[in-house]
Parts: sequence; structure tokens; C-alpha cells
Amino acid sequence: MQILGVAIDDVIEAEAVTRIAAMLESGGAHQICTVNPEFINEAARNPCFAEVLAQADLCTADGIGVLLAARYLGTPLRGRVTGVRLTHRLAQLAAERGYRLFLLGAAPGVAEEAAAVLQAAYAGLTIVGCVAGSPAPHHEPFLQQVIRSARPDILLVAYGHPKQDLWIARNQPILQVPVAVGVGGVFDYLAG
Ligand code: UDP
Repeated sequence: MQILGVAIDDVIEAEAVTRIAAMLESGGAHQICTVNPEFINEAARNPCFAEVLAQADLCTADGIGVLLAARYLGTPLRGRVTGVRLTHRLAQLAAERGYRLFLLGAAPGVAEEAAAVLQAAYAGLTIVGCVAGSPAPHHEPFLQQVIRSARPDILLVAYGHPKQDLWIARNQPILQVPVAVGVGGVFDYLAG
């Protein structure tokens, strides 16, 4: 379904995980966006961001406001798939199947704290990098080098929208991480 031109995938959590698991198996480079109402406002005035959302491999309804808008438009969505829940489910999948996770973004030290919370929850989880970094374009060559040498299967990017999603779209052609997800404030939430 679409809200003001932004296409949202009508998936429940388990279906989102199944689709992401298939992306991990197929390789290549995928992008996932966790959409809240602010994304839709931003897309209306920022054509680059609208294009990134349109070309993403999966756009889940993160914010309750997206579900309310979909219902109002007469095309209700079946479920909400938040960045926090998706992060937990991907960490679980990574621990079970040996996928490598990389956490990029948030204030210095926060990704490390979030990683510790995930590793405590999912035994055997391999986290190959925690870097605050910066979404500024001139930091991209450095971050590309760091991420490429860590060889993650799943990259979580917490720079807030639209920066994180634009960052993923710009860098995925070089990174070729199988799954990259914009997760907003998830590291802050996990770190408490
Ligand atoms: N952030 C960052 N660098 C920036 C801007 C933001 O690392 O230049 C981080 C910030 O520390 C926070 C996250 O991005 O962890 C933004 O979370 P928010 O909940 O605001 O995301 P949004 O809901 O705007 O997508």
C-alpha cells in the first residue's frame, strides 16, 4: 500500500524476517527501511529520500502513525515491524545461522553498549564492528574501508532518517553488504 506516494510492505514481523533471511541467502546488496510518519513527510519534500524509499527492498511500518494512516486510507496494514523488534529478530537469526553483524552510528560508545545487550540475549552472536562514525559524506571512504574489512552480513545504521537511509543507498554499491537496515534510535533504546 502507499501513503503519499511512499510504498509500505504489508508484512507481519515473521514475514519480514523470512524475506530478510532470503536476502541473506541470495547475497547481493539489499536495503531495508523502517518507516515512521516523519519519513513520509520528509519524502514529500525530499525527492532523493523518496527515491531511496522507492528502491528499498523492504519498507516496514515502524511507527503506529503509519498503521493509522493506512487504515484511514482504506488499505490497512496487517502489522507493525519496528526497528527494535527487527534488530532483535536479526540478531537472533545471526546467532542461529552464523551471520556477522555490524553496528554503525549513534553517539560514541552507544553501539558497543547495544552490542553487549544483543550478545547477552543471543548466545554465540558475532558482532564484527561497532563504530559511531559520522554520516558526513567525507567520512564515507574511511567507513567503507572499515566495514568492508569486517565483512558483515547485516549492517545496522543508526544515523536517523533521512541520513541513514541516504547513507545506505550511497554506500551499498561499494559495500555490497547482503542486508543493510536503517534503524534510527534503536542503539540508544537498547543501550537504555
Ligand atoms: N545520529 C548519529 N549521527 C548523526 C545524527 C544522528 O549518530 O549525525 C544518531 C543519534 O545518536 C541516534 C540516531 O542517530 O542514535 C537517531 O535516532 P532517532 O530516533 O532520532 O531516529 P529517527 O527517528 O529520526 O529516524
